[in-house]
Amino acid sequence: MRDPRHDILFEPVKIGPLTAKNRFYQVPHCNGGGYRDPSAVAEMRRVKSEGGWGVIFTEQVEIHHSSEITPFIELRLWEEKDMPSFVKMAEAIHSHGALAGIELAYPGVNGPNLYSREVPMAPVNMPILTFTSDPVQARAMDKQDIRNLRNWHRQAYRRAKRAGFDILCLYGAHGFGVIQHFLSPRINQRTDEYGGSLKNRARLLKELVEDARDEVGDTCAIAVRLSLDEMAGPDGFTNAELRDLVAMHAELPDVWDFAHGTWEACSGTSRFKEEAAQEELIRGLKQLTPRPVVGVGRFTSPDQMVRQVKQGLVDFIGAARPSIADPHLPKKIDEGRTEDIRECIGCNICVTGDMTMGLSRCTQNSSFMEEWRKGWHPERMRKAAPPKKVLVVGSGPAGLSAAHRLGLRGYEVALAEARKELGGRVTLESRLPGLSAWARVRDYRIGQIGKMTNVEVYRDSHLTADDVLGFGAQHVCLATGATWRRDGVARFHLRPVPVANGVRVLTPDDIMAGAEIKGHVLVYDDDHYYMGGVMTEALLKAGCTVSLVTPSVKVSEWATNTLEQGFIQQRLLMAGVDVRVTRALMSVGPGEAVIACTYTGREERVACDAVLMVTARLPVDGLQQSLLAVTEQWMDNGIETVAAIGDAEAPSSAIAWSTYAGHRYAEELDEPERGDALPFRREIAELLT
Ligand code: ADP
Ligand code: SF4
Repeated sequence: MRDPRHDILFEPVKIGPLTAKNRFYQVPHCNGGGYRDPSAVAEMRRVKSEGGWGVIFTEQVEIHHSSEITPFIELRLWEEKDMPSFVKMAEAIHSHGALAGIELAYPGVNGPNLYSREVPMAPVNMPILTFTSDPVQARAMDKQDIRNLRNWHRQAYRRAKRAGFDILCLYGAHGFGVIQHFLSPRINQRTDEYGGSLKNRARLLKELVEDARDEVGDTCAIAVRLSLDEMAGPDGFTNAELRDLVAMHAELPDVWDFAHGTWEACSGTSRFKEEAAQEELIRGLKQLTPRPVVGVGRFTSPDQMVRQVKQGLVDFIGAARPSIADPHLPKKIDEGRTEDIRECIGCNICVTGDMTMGLSRCTQNSSFMEEWRKGWHPERMRKAAPPKKVLVVGSGPAGLSAAHRLGLRGYEVALAEARKELGGRVTLESRLPGLSAWARVRDYRIGQIGKMTNVEVYRDSHLTADDVLGFGAQHVCLATGATWRRDGVARFHLRPVPVANGVRVLTPDDIMAGAEIKGHVLVYDDDHYYMGGVMTEALLKAGCTVSLVTPSVKVSEWATNTLEQGFIQQRLLMAGVDVRVTRALMSVGPGEAVIACTYTGREERVACDAVLMVTARLPVDGLQQSLLAVTEQWMDNGIETVAAIGDAEAPSSAIAWSTYAGHRYAEELDEPERGDALPFRREIAELLT
């Protein structure tokens, strides 16, 4: 039964000629699949429709080949041949009563056109503004270009409607859409009627919306998605100007959808941004327009959502990441099962799928983007036949995930953990600065397992090979984790770094275990994700001073893919950390370390009291080795399979790899050997004959 306090979230809301069944609005989000994986992106949305969202959007859709953002993979609606995937998407979204939204984008100065090789266009002559600094400039649009742009939009509106979409959204947020480029006084330095005053800069937006209404407005709703602030200082499209714009064109679209600013600000990680971080920027906007307002803020708490609506901040709870982590979020609130919500941890691993042109994955929801490829579902699993007994050793993200998913499948599961506390690395890391939300990975799974009568948990139980042999399980899943290396081996050095006797060398495991540390510490980061920066913050908190040395050109380089890199380097520099990039650790002696430039080999000395190695990790495989040494005893003890998963198989700095490994183990335990067959479906292009 739904908590009556949450009723307000299930009120229908009118959007132009249509009505959304509730206030849950899945805003557009990338997924790394796009046009390459059309069925995968459609089925991902079908699961959200089943999960009760009132409105579900596509990712960014490039409406014309003259503006595209290769290498990034979004959707393309360039010609009739593209239509079937959009028809499929709209059908999937409608399957359980959601309104289908399509985000129409003309990237303009954000599109280098590396694939189409067309000359990009922008309000004025200027270099392309992307993550990749391509050697491409856009030319200034003339009046004919603007007429063409309007016609291309008209064509896209007609196609979107024909494909079955209900809400057509014009994308002008995050610096990614031409509408924002025209609105921005920083970018739009035109001197004609499309530049200058706000009225002029908003002219293109107004024309595009009016054209949309003219084409499809009787049946489809028109949305406009804008940044609350361009985040470019007073020269940019500021929050104050946005307010003027909304007041000026209060009734222009059928719904206003406000994103935070830059993508980095909008999709801030929990390390840098709290839930509802955009509140001050959105406050008061709703009062400027009679149209409904959508706002985002990594909302996972129903009480917070209710407050947002009751305080008149938003009409719709916009969500991208919370809908990825839990596609059934609305349904769970509706059914009064809030304790079952799988809360987003704000890690942005999902974003990395887009940034790396891979396929997005989610730390919390391992079935994300596997709905079509592998037939996985976030809530349901195939029943095991027959349900045998499985012993899972280790309760980190891999072990917890395996135990939970095996439990769902009906196996009889025993989860043994050496420590008193469950959660493995997640428990330890969630105590580090900025990572407390990561504990949700553990808490959700412990909560679910706690309800299962077929999963038993044994804490304080360090298992040996004899214990495992005598346990009586048919399957043994070793999720025993990994430890950080102390010898400096990772990517730059494949052999140990020389360290003088008696010099203090620590690893993140020591810090997480509470090692006392004082003085000046050299942190050597050859891992390049969050741990180097987080360890530095932990040392600062403990009163140390730090030199952060990395062979990379920037601090926490891979965190560019989680949109955090800039925030991390800024925070460390502001805190006075001595940052040394493009430097490798060469040796450690008493009271000092030698580092060298990775380009020239020139050496420098850094005085330090200790060195903290954030390098590679090694699997904890002692138990596995002991069991492999006695394979002849397995059969007598009823053991059919032994497998290492997660960090115990091959460590990853990202915990998403571990939760995925646990889920996969449970899905595939009773599947027949595949041989060389692919373990997932793909869509490949047909050759034209
Ligand atoms: P992963 O990311 O793969 O889940 P973790 O390092 O987070 O790995 O978790 C591994 C867990 O396994 C830790 O909590 C550790 O205490 C536990 N563990 C390791 N060896 C044993 C063992 N022999 N018996 C029981 N638990 C173990
Ligand atoms: Fe949230 Fe992380 Fe999942 Fe993205 S990957 S939805 S940030 S839990």
